[in-house]
Amino acid sequence: MSARVSASVTVRVPAKVNVQLAVGAARPDGFHDLANVFLAVGLYDEVTVTEADDLRVTCAGPDADQVPLDRTNLAARAAITLAERYGRVPAVHLHIAKDIPVAGGMAGGSADGAGALLACDALWGTGASRAELLDICAELGSDVPFSLVGGAALGTGRGELLTPLEVGGTFHWVFAMADRGLSTPAVFREFDRLAATEGRRIPEPVASPALLTALAKGDPEALAATVSNDLQRAALSLFPALADTLATGRAAGALTALVSGSGPTTAFLARDAATAAGIAEALTGVCRTVRTTTAPAPGATVL
Ligand code: ATP
Repeated sequence: MSARVSASVTVRVPAKVNVQLAVGAARPDGFHDLANVFLAVGLYDEVTVTEADDLRVTCAGPDADQVPLDRTNLAARAAITLAERYGRVPAVHLHIAKDIPVAGGMAGGSADGAGALLACDALWGTGASRAELLDICAELGSDVPFSLVGGAALGTGRGELLTPLEVGGTFHWVFAMADRGLSTPAVFREFDRLAATEGRRIPEPVASPALLTALAKGDPEALAATVSNDLQRAALSLFPALADTLATGRAAGALTALVSGSGPTTAFLARDAATAAGIAEALTGVCRTVRTTTAPAPGATVL
């Protein structure tokens, strides 16, 4: 008698950095319009989905203890949403091998949502179209569609309306992970508070044409000259020590240093792999973990 082998599918999903994050004024619904230039980077979570009796989530990795294992986990929500659409029961074990920092501004939860969606879709053979999967991603969260697509893209609306962008070369990045997370909603609230205190008029968010050209050319100097993150001041206001991390990376030769998304991960663009290695060395000990990688990375991929 042979043991029953449960079918399983593994999907690899990249983290992201926002090379531009332009934030509009708070809308009446509380959301902000964004012009968000996403770049997928070579740090990955892997989501494995296996047939099981019930929906179950497990997670392994350095930040695993911060990941919710109930139905609020974005991977679980993705499985439930897809199952509902196709009249199935989401009886699967979702295992997340987590390498993307949690609450780090690198869309780790979104990556797991996109990964679980693609993995369940493959396991169940739903035949859902790409457009349908993207639609479910947008329902799960603003950053989830980009995790599916990868590469580089301009996100408008809440960030979920994506236009793919051309990238003409490889960019070398160093990421410094902080010893605690920052909540994305808290950073947006701080952005609103700072804007109100200063009585600043917030312009409509638009993508920078010079930045899009720099990406298309694969030119790191030009990209460094055009990156921007409107959430950076709010993240620094909530986490002042990040300023020292940014300064350390700049002093070690980074072409530019910025907070990744809502932070607190900081991102350093390097001219080449050797400079990236030097920046990583300088940052070691200044923050919790340092990672060196390249971009663009492909989107969610079935392994
Ligand atoms: P973003 O860059 O999209 O703003 P982030 O990278 O800062 O997000 P996440 O790692 O996605 O933050 O986690 C934000 C919160 O989402 C976590 O604190 C956790 O409570 C919750 N969460 C839900 N599902 C997951 C998941 N699969 N992995 C990590 N966090 C999750």
